[in-house]
Amino acid sequence: AFQFTDSYLQGVYETLCRKNAQEPEFLQAAGEVLESLQPVVAQRPELVKSGVIDRIVEPERSLMFRISWVDDQGKVQVNRGYRVQFSTAIGPSKGGLRFHPSVNLSIIKFLGFEQIFKNSLTGLPMGGGKGGADFDPKGKSNNEVMRFCQSFMTELQRHIGPDTDVPAGDIGVGAREIGYLFGQYKRIRNEFNGVLTGKGLSYGGSLARTEATGYGLCYFADEMLKAAGKSFQGQSVVISGSGNVAIYANQKATELGGRVIAMSDSNGYIVDENGIDYKIMQEIKEVKRARISTYLEYVPTAKYVEGCRGIWSVPCGIALPCATQNELDLDGAKALVEHGCFAVAEGANMPSTPEAVAYFQAHKLLFAPAKASNAGGVATSGLEMSQNSMRLSWTFEEVDEKLHGIMRNIYHNAANAAAEYGMEGNLVAGANIAGFLKVADAMIWQGV
Ligand code: GLU
Repeated sequence: AFQFTDSYLQGVYETLCRKNAQEPEFLQAAGEVLESLQPVVAQRPELVKSGVIDRIVEPERSLMFRISWVDDQGKVQVNRGYRVQFSTAIGPSKGGLRFHPSVNLSIIKFLGFEQIFKNSLTGLPMGGGKGGADFDPKGKSNNEVMRFCQSFMTELQRHIGPDTDVPAGDIGVGAREIGYLFGQYKRIRNEFNGVLTGKGLSYGGSLARTEATGYGLCYFADEMLKAAGKSFQGQSVVISGSGNVAIYANQKATELGGRVIAMSDSNGYIVDENGIDYKIMQEIKEVKRARISTYLEYVPTAKYVEGCRGIWSVPCGIALPCATQNELDLDGAKALVEHGCFAVAEGANMPSTPEAVAYFQAHKLLFAPAKASNAGGVATSGLEMSQNSMRLSWTFEEVDEKLHGIMRNIYHNAANAAAEYGMEGNLVAGANIAGFLKVADAMIWQGV
């Protein structure tokens, strides 16, 4: 639970808790942003008068729908689909789709809410949204995934569009799923446009989009380290997760001179003191779609440990949580600090619990919050939208350079906003404030 010195924000938070009592993840994400806004509200009474804060915590539109499909045994399956169009103040709502059995309204709302501020921080004209389904892609055949995606899009297509709402991938939704979703959109609507991002290169995707979240995370971390007179050079790095974000964070952290010694999946983690080759992980996860323990077949000297939370007790200088929300709790934070970790940069959305974040801050770690440090993925989605609108495509180097510039800007904007509002060094507050102010300004201009 959050506590506010400001009585107006306390009131907003209490209303929020009352209206969304069944949504712990959403309350966690919103509570943190409201807390960061305390020094802003104190200085800018127009924010209270215009009701922007009361308005921004309520999604513009939340959709829930049935997805029925037939599995390989001929049995009818039913899943629940979601799309929350949280804010279109600064552009069409934008954010990924997550296919995972844990998906519910709370998780989609927390992700959509985070997306508002993250997208604003990129400097590109994108509002915030998120969607998904409680579908478990694990163990499903390719045809089952295709039929599921087609059924999902059969409903979703009426609610989205390149100027309305532009979905992309997230956990469980990668290049394969985006392809099936795009195919179905086009079949029904007969429109070839940038309605989805993360598309394949042969049909409108952007170079460097696959790598973008992981690369962007390291670009951001590098900038944060530099400002503190440090770098990746010679540091051991622990990365949780083994999906798209984790794999390319590994590649970039290694390029920047770090040694990635541990990675995980939901079953357990591997430790390889010689450094984990991201290409092996790519083959295991993207080609074979196998468990991370398979790594031992490639590198027999590595170690595999059952259970994924133990990864935070692997001694490292830099930790990059890239798996999922609330994967790094107070125990994990204590273990990291105890073993000499000095920097944490979040690649997943909200991977650290509020207690873990408070612990890092109390122990003066360099801490990069997800909505700033993992914005590279959606930023590059924004660049994909631009390329689609212009009907041309940029080279890998062009996109990568733009991404690098965007991540540097986000770091400096967040650091400056924190300093301006008396929270020097607090990137959580800085990212929330900088992301919020642009959206708030647009909302005020556009009236109630
Ligand atoms: N799912 C990613 C995120 O959390 C990317 C969303 C997008 O590209 O629209 O930011």
